[in-house]
Amino acid sequence: MALLDVLFCCLLAVWHCQPGLGLPLAPAGGQSPAPAVGQFWHVTDLHLDPTYHITDDHTKVCASSKGTNASNPGPFGDVMCDSPYYLILSAFDFIKNSGQEASFMIWTGDSPPHVPVHELSTDIVINVIANMTTTIRSLFPNLQVFPALGNHDYWPQVNLTSTSRSAKRNFPISSDMLQYYLNLTDANLKGESNWKLEYILTQTYDIEDLQPKSLYGLAKQFAILDSKKFIKYYNYFFVSYDSSVICNEKCKVFQICAITSLDHNSYVDCLKQYYMKHHL
Ligand SMILES: [Zn+2]
Repeated sequence: MALLDVLFCCLLAVWHCQPGLGLPLAPAGGQSPAPAVGQFWHVTDLHLDPTYHITDDHTKVCASSKGTNASNPGPFGDVMCDSPYYLILSAFDFIKNSGQEASFMIWTGDSPPHVPVHELSTDIVINVIANMTTTIRSLFPNLQVFPALGNHDYWPQVNLTSTSRSAKRNFPISSDMLQYYLNLTDANLKGESNWKLEYILTQTYDIEDLQPKSLYGLAKQFAILDSKKFIKYYNYFFVSYDSSVICNEKCKVFQICAITSLDHNSYVDCLKQYYMKHHL
């Protein structure tokens, strides 16, 4: 579903983290210093669609809409399409000029577009990844970037459930996360991008930190019937695009299992359990 795909694009988040995992944030020896706090950028799912272009025939704006009409195409993209290069540049421009000091960037891949298998090839996938790598390198020559491959960075693509998406977003040492987003309609109308803070994770869900215990507690709260926090989560899942979209019982089972069961087998088990319990 292209709508879903594009909403995953360009997720920008600043993670605050405490020292751990051998990160050299505090000097060795001497008196113990105040706990050091650092932050890093997490960029993921850029999904560049090189075919994106403005044309009167809205079925032909981008290959990633798979023949569906683009809704309101503009220079920054369209909700039915993956990202035009211009949108990706605007995201990086925001990172550069945000005034946020980051120690490094984690880039968790998924650069190629969501298009039918026969419209891609190993060469195209490699070209897209090379393009993104060159772009990041030239825009952030002094920032250390840790890349990882996503399930779309192969050809033919590995078909993973949304579980893989959540799994690759877990950083055990994090104490908070700030999520940024761009309102596409607004950006296309004004001809300029205005990236905004969407939420601060601990504040929006009223949790202490991002330690596994706190996140697990939050996931359990999501699972409660009519959970307000889950409704909030689902709105952010669609990048605040349309808060009138309701996630019904079946949809909620998929979400809860994707959040709580990180490997394929336990995900399938989780679905089965819920299906049996609720006769869905
Ligand atoms: Zn993706």
